[in-house]
Amino acid sequence: MIFSHPEPPSRKLRILPVFMPFAGCKSRCVYCSQTVQTGTAESQLKNIYIFLQQALEDAEDNAGYEVAFYGGTFTAIPFEWQKRFVALASEFALSGKVIGVRCSTRPDAVNSEQLRELKELGLKTVELGVQSYNNKVLSISKRDYTQESIVSACNAVRKNSLELGIQLLPGLPGMDKKIFLDDVKKTCALSPAVVRLYPCLVFKNTILASWYTRGEFAPWELNDTVEALGSGLLMLWQDGIRVIRIGVAQEDGLTDSLVAGPFHPAIGNMVRSEALRCFLVEKMETLSRPFSRLLLPRRYQGELWGYKGAYKKFWGERGLSPSTVVSWNLPIFQMD
Ligand code: SF4
Repeated sequence: MIFSHPEPPSRKLRILPVFMPFAGCKSRCVYCSQTVQTGTAESQLKNIYIFLQQALEDAEDNAGYEVAFYGGTFTAIPFEWQKRFVALASEFALSGKVIGVRCSTRPDAVNSEQLRELKELGLKTVELGVQSYNNKVLSISKRDYTQESIVSACNAVRKNSLELGIQLLPGLPGMDKKIFLDDVKKTCALSPAVVRLYPCLVFKNTILASWYTRGEFAPWELNDTVEALGSGLLMLWQDGIRVIRIGVAQEDGLTDSLVAGPFHPAIGNMVRSEALRCFLVEKMETLSRPFSRLLLPRRYQGELWGYKGAYKKFWGERGLSPSTVVSWNLPIFQMD
């Protein structure tokens, strides 16, 4: 039996991140660790604008950046500022410094008419912080919108021919694996171009941290998180959806402010290994004769055995060992 890896082809993104902490946020979500106070003063937006202008002037020609406005609710900052930021980034398209502009925002802050104007100015991608479609989970996390708002926000993005991104937050209060996998199914139905998966972590100075200290919230264990996200990742891949991030990046100060939760610097690899494990188990089940050998593309060899060989025992029990697994340079798998 010959088959390909289920991950859709990816294109390399070169992101120039522009952080706008808490900009445009009308309330504070329980897990949010943005440190800036509610609302963003005009002076802060001016400073961010000057920072971006400088960064783009300093960039090499043909750098091919996608300028990304992250860390707040971009489409809820004053509209004049939204336009100014997108127009500034687009000015650098001619020199090849910028090849796209993306922003992250909340589903309840999306307005189709405004998206149309931003698209005309050069906006290419809108990443919606959906987090979950489950109304109970959304309400506990003080997200203040419902599944209906998510669907209409996705439709508004697509109606304006913008690329749609969806961010999910598995492990929020009130969520279990079943709800998460249901969130993945609903995401597949909305056909975003890209997805990011951020397992819920507890950071200092958040409402979630106080719930955690009082014993009112327990984050998912790392193993459970890897298992749930592995299944979810495989479903997304099999629907042709690219997953461009798994877990928060390990930035300076992250571990100092982390209180609890399934953080691991290699969580992306762990989840990919789990997805590959689920995929190969599916394939093995369809093989109608005894299994004798697996030929696999060299680049997946590490993922097959798992982080620090975590799956060696699992595969050993199913007949996969260093003598029955051969890596080769072809981009396909062969199971005999
Ligand atoms: S919308 Fe995003 S940035 Fe704003 S408070 Fe919620 S999680 Fe934080």
